[in-house]
Amino acid sequence: MILPKVFKMNTLEKLIEKFRQFPGIGPRQASRFAYFLLRQNPAYLKELTSLVSHLKSEVSTCEKCRRFFETPRSASRLFCSICSSKNRDGAKLMIVAKDIDLEAIEKTGGYHGNYFVLGESLPILEKNPEQKIAIKALFQRIENGKEIKEIILALNLNPEGEHTADFLTQELNGQLASRELKISRLGRGLSTGTELEYADKDTLNSALQNRF
Ligand SMILES: [Zn+2]
Repeated sequence: MILPKVFKMNTLEKLIEKFRQFPGIGPRQASRFAYFLLRQNPAYLKELTSLVSHLKSEVSTCEKCRRFFETPRSASRLFCSICSSKNRDGAKLMIVAKDIDLEAIEKTGGYHGNYFVLGESLPILEKNPEQKIAIKALFQRIENGKEIKEIILALNLNPEGEHTADFLTQELNGQLASRELKISRLGRGLSTGTELEYADKDTLNSALQNRF
């Protein structure tokens, strides 16, 4: 059977357009992904579509740190493995922009406190910061966490990350003035422009130890 040419192009174009919306993916890469899928066998495509369609139900957001984790089969509260662990230092709360940054810090093995994932960093000209990053949930987390003594801002060293760190410092100092909280940032070793997810383990570890 010969399918009408217009129909075939539309489906392919739609798929390419979906891939183009992925972070960091340009039109050429998006096309490459679509043609790659066209060359795979039906079993591969079936597994891929099944994974994608179950993603939202199989993965949950931790109610404490807001990171993504595998939805537990039987638990009344949705806490991830880090937030449910008894071996973490509850006095430290590290704020990161994304899950991938949390993973980079975990890989250093040099941090044993808790985390909070903002979801993204704050664009410099953003007029509604509360809608962009999870600031309300963050304050709630700190208010509930009476044991927290230090907030570590672990954000990218690019203009957006710096802006996010400045905004949070101001908000934390303003709204939590009654709490004796130490607010620190990652230190020496990370050069300007560094994105945490690409920083190597040793550099990140030393920046963590030398926080200021
Ligand atoms: Zn968690």
